[in-house]
Amino acid sequence: MTEINGARLLEDLRAFSQIGGRADGGLDRLAWTEADLEGRRWLADRMQACGLDARTDPALNVFGHLAASTGPWLLLGSHTDSVPRGGRLDGAYGTIAALEVLRTLVEAHDPLAEHVEIVGWADEEGVRFENGLIGSRAVAGELNPDDLEEQIDWQGEPAAVVLARAGVDLERINEAHEHLDFLKGYLELHIEQGPRMEADGFDLAVVTGIVGVHREKVRIEGVQNHAGTTPFRMRKDAGRAAARAVAGLRELVQAVDQEAVANVGAIHFDPGGINVVPGRAEFDLEVRHGSDEVVRGIVHTFHDRLHQICAEEGCRADADFRSYEPAVAMDAGVMAALERACQSLSPRVTQLASGAGHDASVMSRHLPTGMLFVPSIGGISHAPEENTSDEHLVLGARALLQGARAVSGAL
Ligand SMILES: [Zn+2]
Repeated sequence: MTEINGARLLEDLRAFSQIGGRADGGLDRLAWTEADLEGRRWLADRMQACGLDARTDPALNVFGHLAASTGPWLLLGSHTDSVPRGGRLDGAYGTIAALEVLRTLVEAHDPLAEHVEIVGWADEEGVRFENGLIGSRAVAGELNPDDLEEQIDWQGEPAAVVLARAGVDLERINEAHEHLDFLKGYLELHIEQGPRMEADGFDLAVVTGIVGVHREKVRIEGVQNHAGTTPFRMRKDAGRAAARAVAGLRELVQAVDQEAVANVGAIHFDPGGINVVPGRAEFDLEVRHGSDEVVRGIVHTFHDRLHQICAEEGCRADADFRSYEPAVAMDAGVMAALERACQSLSPRVTQLASGAGHDASVMSRHLPTGMLFVPSIGGISHAPEENTSDEHLVLGARALLQGARAVSGAL
């Protein structure tokens, strides 16, 4: 059986984590920065060093395949950008593991090598601009360059300027889409980024789907007033109404579905004085679940409750819809093939829905797609402490190789 070189995989992961690496063990390799570009050059060099043709497309995705092969390929990979003060494995692991798998196949003169291509996607995280998944959406033909062009990053720089400096011409970015015709499937290996596998003692997980994500901004209008002279019973306190809505969110969500989650990550009271009853409150709400219907049901129930609270508090509420990323299901045939591959390597294999978005969400709308997870130590991700045991990192890459063989045979 052709087997990956575990020591080389771990060494490449270590080397790659130095690019944009932080003293605390974390990573700052934000999309379109110098560190991101250096990471892409490093990846292309590694591809060439093992005899692959490396190509950077108009969206800055880095692809590699054997020069003599013409596709269609089963694509393996993940993203190479990070969040600010992120971890060394999110995205990087799936990218380097894909490199190790194809490198192993090439060295072994395995016929499967001709049917596999690998990729390091551009700007998955979406930290810089409003939406991520830019590289995969460009290949999928889902990216509207006009939408992107209007966005500015946190330093006030327009996307067109930031991307141009990185070598991307927004006018040409959709030429990346031409490559979709040369692909027959997509597999992504990733760290779980949550605590469930570790808690239940699983080594590998076959991902069943990726949750739908609803985002909205809630605005509550009350009456701004003096906090010393206005009795409680006479206040129209937008802050109190917001606090009641947020405090009851968990019970409300769990009453609809135990697996669903929601979050209010930012809240703002206006005008924001210690002696002023807030006249206005705003907060961002996010709801996630594997079924679009459940997400809609939670949002509907929440709006009912919000209006009830506001009526009691003498306030008014509006919810501004921001975005909805639909739930996606992984391909049933690909999942079955991945399950067989995983079972051949470990008895502790499970199935999980992913609570985080991935490039696989995008590709699943166009190609038979599957994902594999390995456990995250302590369930920590998007932080310097993000980690996975060496044993699980190597096992995941072995599963990716066996999975690629099983899936390629089934497509
Ligand atoms: Zn990721």
